[in-house]
Amino acid sequence: MNVLVINAGSSSLKYQLMNPETGDVAAKGLCERIYIDGRLTHKVGDNKVEKDIPMPTHSEAIQAVLEILVDPVDGVIKSVDEIDAVGHRVLHGGMEFSDSCIVNDDVIKAIKKCIPLGPLHNPANLMGIEACQAVMPKTPQVAVFDTAFHMTMPPKAYRYAIPTEYYENDDIRRYGFHGTSHKYIARRAAALVGKTEFKMVNCHLGNGSSMSAIKDGKCMDTTMGLSPLAGVPMGTRSGDIDACVVQFICNKYGMSVDDCLTMLNKKSGVLGLSDGLSSDFRDLEAAAGEGNEACKLALQKFYYEVAKYVGAYAAALNGIDVLTFTAGVGENGITTRQAICDYLGFMGVKIDPEKNNVRGKETLISTPDSKVQVWVIPTNEELMIAQDTAELVNAAK
Ligand code: AMP
Repeated sequence: MNVLVINAGSSSLKYQLMNPETGDVAAKGLCERIYIDGRLTHKVGDNKVEKDIPMPTHSEAIQAVLEILVDPVDGVIKSVDEIDAVGHRVLHGGMEFSDSCIVNDDVIKAIKKCIPLGPLHNPANLMGIEACQAVMPKTPQVAVFDTAFHMTMPPKAYRYAIPTEYYENDDIRRYGFHGTSHKYIARRAAALVGKTEFKMVNCHLGNGSSMSAIKDGKCMDTTMGLSPLAGVPMGTRSGDIDACVVQFICNKYGMSVDDCLTMLNKKSGVLGLSDGLSSDFRDLEAAAGEGNEACKLALQKFYYEVAKYVGAYAAALNGIDVLTFTAGVGENGITTRQAICDYLGFMGVKIDPEKNNVRGKETLISTPDSKVQVWVIPTNEELMIAQDTAELVNAAK
């Protein structure tokens, strides 16, 4: 089976043509500068092709992707009919979606209803879906929501302690994000530890970071909230912050709430703490190594907050069996993993420095006598989207 996985942003569109059973990627690429001029980067194995193609809308971008996929030289299939289904990443499923689903008119309406919750991403995700429907009307489309995995959280985890009317009238609650990644890691962890009933904390640590408390494969709590701003400090996001900070800054500097939120989303996190030096952990580690105090603090703050959430979730789950690290920093950050685990000795976490000396490879990094198995598991959101898509499309046959 061939599944085309699409992640449509406001001016870009990423794609992968993959086999959901084997995870093999036939081709992948990126359309950029949609609405501006249009640029396609297409990769088949190590071969890379770059083309300037006019992309006045997402529709032309999808068209360009389909054309290059069937191109006699750069393509990997003979006809668009060889694409059995399309899986779309959709950011916000609100309270409408607790699972992936085949796209129909009702699904489109419900995704539109979630636009106030995901104002930047949902319209772009919809444009991707509608563009595919237009150019390949007979091919089933599946929507995979970044929030869906977290819909198993109990009310005590997802409700904010504010008046009920905001939940009942406005759907204001914790939703959580990176759900496709957390779901993929929960499944891989179950396969690696060889059981389905166990308690784990997954640390998805990348430019955006979130953590989930997971019991028997189901999400019980997660660090991001109504938006991806909440939780641990990230590359450029502040993470959890007292709402009065917003009031104070807006009043003092005559800043609008929107501008203040842009500052908290784009100029904060480790970038803000490092005095604007970098949001990239490699740069911060290098500068900290040379004695830069701001970078040292940025890293210390990150390790500390991640470790605090592991402790909080271990309490919420009454102990954990497995701790997993994934995404750019989680998969590659040897120092980061060591520093976080150094806080967790009290709960019997012990990692082996030699085993921890690994990047981007599924590895058990804890010692045999550690009370908690600690794993590095590279995430694969595209594969999870392709698998959900294949499952739904096969079931509907
Ligand atoms: P992601 O958002 O998952 O793509 O993660 C991106 C982040 O991973 C980058 O900003 C880097 O900070 C981090 N990263 C990538 N490679 C390394 C590495 N070798 N060591 C530490 N951090 C890394």
